[in-house]
Amino acid sequence: MAESTHEDLESLPRGGFRCRLCHVTVANKPSLDDHLRGKKHQRMENLRSVRQAQELRSVFVSGFHKGTPASELSDYFQTYGEVVNVVMDKDKGVYAIVELQDREVLEKVLAQTQHSLGGQKLRVKPREKKDFKYTPPRKQGPAKREQLSPEKLAQKLCQADDVDAQMSLLVQLFEFSEGERRLRDLLVTLFQEVFLEFFPGSAILPFGSSVNGFDVSGCDLDLFLDLEKTKKFQASAKSPTETPAEDRASPEPDTRSEDSILSDIDLASATVPEVLELVATVLRKCVPGVHHVQVVPNARRPVVKFCHKESGLRGDISIDNKLALRNTRFLQLCTETDERVRPLVYAVRYWAKQQALAGNPFGGGPLLNNYALTLLVLFFLQTRNPPVLPTVARLKELSENEEQTVVDSWDCSFPKDSTRLEPSSNTENLCALLAEFFHVFEDYNFAGHIISLREGQPLPRPSVLTSEAGSKLKLGPFNLQDPFELSHNVAANVNEKTALRFRRCCQVAAKYCRSLQYQRKSSKGKIWGLVRLFQPGTAEAEVLAATGLVISFPLTLPTQPAQSHELLCQAGDFHHQWFQKVYAGIASVLQNVLKCSCSEGLEQEQEAATDCKQGEQLAGMTTEQPPAGCKRSLDEEEAGSSSPSPKRPRTDALFPEGRSMTWNCAVWHKVWLGRRRVRRQLRGPQPDPEHTAGSLELEAKVSEAISQQEGEGRPADPLLQFTIHARAGASASGERETRISLRFDPVPEQAVAFQEFFHFLQGFLPRAVEQQLASEA
Ligand code: ATP
Ligand code: MG
Repeated sequence: MAESTHEDLESLPRGGFRCRLCHVTVANKPSLDDHLRGKKHQRMENLRSVRQAQELRSVFVSGFHKGTPASELSDYFQTYGEVVNVVMDKDKGVYAIVELQDREVLEKVLAQTQHSLGGQKLRVKPREKKDFKYTPPRKQGPAKREQLSPEKLAQKLCQADDVDAQMSLLVQLFEFSEGERRLRDLLVTLFQEVFLEFFPGSAILPFGSSVNGFDVSGCDLDLFLDLEKTKKFQASAKSPTETPAEDRASPEPDTRSEDSILSDIDLASATVPEVLELVATVLRKCVPGVHHVQVVPNARRPVVKFCHKESGLRGDISIDNKLALRNTRFLQLCTETDERVRPLVYAVRYWAKQQALAGNPFGGGPLLNNYALTLLVLFFLQTRNPPVLPTVARLKELSENEEQTVVDSWDCSFPKDSTRLEPSSNTENLCALLAEFFHVFEDYNFAGHIISLREGQPLPRPSVLTSEAGSKLKLGPFNLQDPFELSHNVAANVNEKTALRFRRCCQVAAKYCRSLQYQRKSSKGKIWGLVRLFQPGTAEAEVLAATGLVISFPLTLPTQPAQSHELLCQAGDFHHQWFQKVYAGIASVLQNVLKCSCSEGLEQEQEAATDCKQGEQLAGMTTEQPPAGCKRSLDEEEAGSSSPSPKRPRTDALFPEGRSMTWNCAVWHKVWLGRRRVRRQLRGPQPDPEHTAGSLELEAKVSEAISQQEGEGRPADPLLQFTIHARAGASASGERETRISLRFDPVPEQAVAFQEFFHFLQGFLPRAVEQQLASEA
């Protein structure tokens, strides 16, 4: 009797197993043994032996007219001996498998070098040897879960007993059903069968959320087509003497024959888009049930997209993405290492999706993708005390010789399975971990650090940049280093606005998680726990309602020589001076870069910065000529020294820590519109390295140019008038971090018009202030 091999079996998290041969999942080893001894498994093994024998006496035939009936093919091959069966590709009618009586007839057929039918030259070749996969009759369960409506989800979650139970339930509700897993297995088998015929030696390997432990019903099917062996075969067919002996040991498919699809292309020298075109052709012509095939050659990782007609499943095939196979395995290892990983990632992913912070929109966009978001959760778990997950560097230490893996020159070594990892001594429950996740990131300086999963800690920007990999990292407002491809920032697409929104939404979520509504089930049937976190857009609305128009951003305190730093801190002076400098920086950006008028507000306003009235602000509004005595133009201050001017002492009295400030401002031109175009014009076709995008000098010229386009000189009245209240304080992220919050109050009748300018400032101001401070330093 046929033996079941260990390749049939797959171990699952929490001690379960899956028999790939029978598509059966069991909970533990005794149940597995029962299954292996059982009738079903025995039947499948027999079936496999029969199929393999059939395969050995079958040929793969193509080249006939589309729509040729099976009987014609059968008649043709009968001339060589008995034909047992002809299986046509019904959907596309371009190939057939002809099963012959025995090996003898097969050899006769293959000995004939030319075959033709109905005036068409036939391509006839032996079947590629492949793993047996059983295709069960279609009956068991839906291939895709019915879409769970948000209302239904909320209702189910509210019935759980506590937040931990809600999170486990979330996984159960979202993960693949047995039917969906089976459908994906079958599709992979189908692709493998077809590709093997056209690309001898190739392998099709699933990666991404179908297999990494974070499956969500309906997620895309990511496939990698490995053509390494096919390339070698092709090369050896061209020059047999140059091929290493070990590669020649395996039976060589005939890639030389002019019949092979490979005769059209040299895989070694073809470009990725060329090969993808060929893959797309095979998909279009030869894979039944697949449509909407499209090559996307310009993505970071070029792919062929497709859709499976019957199930609506969407998928991608890439040929140049070995690292993704490895990072998929890494994510899977993390889920096997600690059972809290899955529920936590599912909860964070769904929360982020509902707040429009993450997702994988077609064609990219400025949101975090699910891979990046998952890495952020893993990083968070690495940095708990004690850690829930080991760092990637630690995983490398734990890996044995045969597990050392290098892909595209990046070290991707980690243990094959989780059995060799020490269990975590961290005992935090899911409810607490989720709350902490939001707390940690509500105030995180994503722009100032690089999140490193390899080290399990944030790295300061400069130290990373000096390393070879670091120097290639594309840094931006959100810096999350890939755990293996160290020169890749997986969040490089995230813009300032999204980074800001991410932190804001974390702030709101962290605040909510401190409430009893999050922590305890409602006895009155109200929504509680995760449910409120999952309501779309609540985070944004709450932030705005609570804070109005606020721009809040972190800044790193400059390093001081140890001694003087201490002395200054003792005197409370160091912080004071730093904040004064920041305020001067903000004012300078407004005045010099954005060409706004800007003057310090009235003393009484400053005292009551958070609850001042619009009327008072209007009274203090500066235009060209500030009324003497009550405020001081910042131009004046700039003209003097950078140290606090003699007129300054009042600030100390009013703001014991030098932490608040009010300005009355006016903007005269629409300096927020069309900046990119003007910037391009000023830079000319050959960008001057001194004037790269974002240099303040250039930005000032852009504002100037926009003002001039709008007409000579200043208009009689400003476009918008507003007050800014600034507050500064320490940040929760670390000792050397400060946070600046700027609240904007436009004059009431301009509130709507002001929005546009405010949205521009949200992105522009934090970066510009940072640059201004850096240039002074
Ligand atoms: P889902 O498809 O459910 O949104 P996913 O994890 O499959 O989640 P995809 O965008 O489909 O996400 O990406 C598939 C896989 O490709 C990821 O799991 C990861 O292994 C790899 N990948 C995606 N984006 C990146 C990236 N920016 N850097 C490195 N690898 C990535
Ligand atoms: Mg995917």
